[in-house]
Amino acid sequence: MLNLYKPRRQVIAEAVSVLSSYGVSQEVRDRLTVIFDEQSDRELYRANPRLLAAHLQLQERTMLKILVMGLREGLVTLNWEVECPACGGIDPAHHHLHELRSLHTCPACKTIHETNADEQVRVTFTLDERLRKLTAAADDPAFRSKMDRRYGVVSAHHMLTLPTFRQLFPRETLPPNESLLIRRVAILFTDLAGSTQLYSRRGDTKAYELVHRHFDLLFRIVDEQGGVVIKTIGDAIMAAFTEPDQAVRAAIAIHDQLKHLNQDLGLPPDDWLRLKIGLDVGPCVSVTLNDRPDYFGTTVNTAARVQSASYPDRITMTEALLPAAAIVDDLKGWQRQQRALVLKGIDHPVTVYDLAPPST
Ligand SMILES: [Zn+2]
Repeated sequence: MLNLYKPRRQVIAEAVSVLSSYGVSQEVRDRLTVIFDEQSDRELYRANPRLLAAHLQLQERTMLKILVMGLREGLVTLNWEVECPACGGIDPAHHHLHELRSLHTCPACKTIHETNADEQVRVTFTLDERLRKLTAAADDPAFRSKMDRRYGVVSAHHMLTLPTFRQLFPRETLPPNESLLIRRVAILFTDLAGSTQLYSRRGDTKAYELVHRHFDLLFRIVDEQGGVVIKTIGDAIMAAFTEPDQAVRAAIAIHDQLKHLNQDLGLPPDDWLRLKIGLDVGPCVSVTLNDRPDYFGTTVNTAARVQSASYPDRITMTEALLPAAAIVDDLKGWQRQQRALVLKGIDHPVTVYDLAPPST
């Protein structure tokens, strides 16, 4: 006789096994299965990703990537929750980014407030009922707020700067006329120095192959350092980071690893791929443009202009990056030069710092 009843553990394990196709190891899948089977209902309902990361002993970003893969496969559901700055109430009524609005009305106190992606919108995940049916007792606000205080929350901005989320949910965007404020984002622009000469000397096909290799390197480093490439513009990229020191670390790693790539490719020094990098940090707005998420505002414009005023193999940053640069050990030995830069559309000259690596 067929046994139609499967133990819950087996149902969960089978569902979780799909994550192997995303490269999630057997060991992590096994741990996830145990968590999904054994944790109390309230820990799996609107769960703080940081709490799950602690249970699974994973880095927050690794946990988020796995949850986004799980979301794609229907293992969990995602909640974009808006916290009211007036009464502290949490509105969980959003499963999609396109349900969020620039101005949010608190359902509890009716306060209308601007929606900040890094301060008021947090993400949580609920285990899908296909894997395990949670009881009504799972909804325990006191427990959730205790966990939020203990672990801190994962903001919408963290999701927006997760490459896995952008890859797996390219259509998950804000409505065309809405925007989310981001209080602080670090923007990094790169551009390839002398690319016109590179194309003319190497020929279009070979030059493009080199440019492609350099893009692969940039995408990988930006992800490793906790950011996301927002877009490429010709031979340039624009990347965003939630923390400014991540942007500084990425800029250092990019120069460093590009040097190794040039050597590995056996390129003559005249054909070396060299980047000019510009950084700024500050507020911006997240919008949807041409069906893709994009960032706009003075911080973005400033970073772009600082980049174009930079030099090959240098990192040029605004004053706002100095506190972040101070905590990056890898900058020890780099030379720093200050100058005033007049930027189009900005009245006063902006103080920028050119950073040069020790060997040059
Ligand atoms: Zn309220």
